[in-house]
Amino acid sequence: MTEASMRNFIGGDWHEAKTADSLPMIDPSTGEAYGEIADSGERDIDRAVAAARQAFDEGAWGRLTATERGRLLTRFADAVAANADEIAGIEARDTGKPMRVARADAAALARYFEFYGGAADKFHGETIPYLDGHHVAVINEPHGVTGHILPWNYPAQMFGRTLAPALAAGNATVLKPAEDASASALRLAALAAEVGFPAGAINVVTGRGATAGAALASHPGVDFVSFTGSPEVGQIIQKLCADHYITCTLELGGKSPQIVFADADLNRAVPVIVNAIVQNSGQTCSAGSRLLVERSIHDALVERLADAFARVRVGTPAMDADCGPIITAKQQARVQSFIDRARSDGIPVLAQGRLDPALPAGGFFVAPTLFGAVPRDHAIAREEVFGPVLSILPFDDEADAVALANATDYALVAAVWTRDGGRQMRLAKRVRAGQLFVNCYGAGAGIELPFGGSGKSGHGREKGFAALHDFSKTKTIVIDHR
Ligand code: NAD
Repeated sequence: MTEASMRNFIGGDWHEAKTADSLPMIDPSTGEAYGEIADSGERDIDRAVAAARQAFDEGAWGRLTATERGRLLTRFADAVAANADEIAGIEARDTGKPMRVARADAAALARYFEFYGGAADKFHGETIPYLDGHHVAVINEPHGVTGHILPWNYPAQMFGRTLAPALAAGNATVLKPAEDASASALRLAALAAEVGFPAGAINVVTGRGATAGAALASHPGVDFVSFTGSPEVGQIIQKLCADHYITCTLELGGKSPQIVFADADLNRAVPVIVNAIVQNSGQTCSAGSRLLVERSIHDALVERLADAFARVRVGTPAMDADCGPIITAKQQARVQSFIDRARSDGIPVLAQGRLDPALPAGGFFVAPTLFGAVPRDHAIAREEVFGPVLSILPFDDEADAVALANATDYALVAAVWTRDGGRQMRLAKRVRAGQLFVNCYGAGAGIELPFGGSGKSGHGREKGFAALHDFSKTKTIVIDHR
């Protein structure tokens, strides 16, 4: 149990939640509770929003220059790097990730703060030629207080992805981590105070979505919301924001296709395809969960993939296998029900990964599963499983590949594997996605690269300079100096 686990970090200090209720912290590798977090409510969110408001309007945070904010972010990046093993250990226990993956997440967290620390004073406005005798300047201003509602799949990385650009742009922040994985956010709040973030710049309140999360999105003192999670809750968030006339970014997952043509370099493609779906046990918004294969190489590719899939090891963080358990018993049951339904509908299982016989009995483990050929209208071809399940869909030609790639409600990430330069460009333009990779894949990679979707994948952009635009608003100043 982490020291501060029953308390929220508000206004630069730890506070008992106003509710006496708690939520268990469960280790997904064993299914056992190892601590508690506060099940906070509306009054705790009120307090956090007030602290952020004060920091932004009157406190030390609001008076910092962009350069000073950037320095603080950079200092935090250094502190994360210096404490990376501890942060990775907290994250691995809370989410079940292999230690190697949790360490990579801690490195990505540091990189987010490094990138936005450097970007803070390079996020310029512009001047616009206008009428004679007039000067027009367009400046970027922070929204004010931003609310951040996080998922459980990459809690530490997400802390960086959403908070670093918001802080670099000058906002004061209130973050509600997912109730199933809040430990790293609490530790990182303490670390932010240690490196000198002024009181109220970063506030962390734990609790459930329907209570603490809804209170944050609907709070009249919140000026913008950044949400990552399910499409269903994304719709709720957008409606809550609309009620008080603010906007939000929604990052809601995907059913991302990898499209493999007959001329692709399969030696390069196969390990990338496998990693893109087993990474984080498939609990990745940008997981490559659909494999579209040109019919003429279907059998050859399936043979290689089945071999690679059968070698995937599932284990606890300490075993440092290829992937860990699913986050909760509920999510495990959901993923397993997709697998069971596909099997009972007669879709062939081409390969499955290995569950170590020494795995703890209570852990939420699921064997990575390769399905093919999947009928195009089947649930595992269209719906987000959010587990290590890859669906193979054969296609006939380029036009068929594009139609199939675009045949879900999602549009987040896509990959095209071909050596044909013309085809690379044609598909890059015609496939619907916020990020499109050619002969590579970047599930979650690239802090510098704008990222986000459309349709059921959500809207708005994170990462890169695009996130700074979303976390700010322009003000156009027109001066008549005649
Ligand atoms: P969820 O959408 O319920 O939870 C995400 C976050 O939203 C959590 O912090 C939660 O507390 C909060 N939340 C829930 N209800 C809320 C409400 N009414 N108002 C405000 N906040 C609320 O996701 P989940 O139940 O944890 O997972 C379900 C599915 O969501 C998964 O199977 C997966 O498909 C998807 N998911 C996607 C991502 C992603 O990265 N895009 C991450 C996690 C889950």
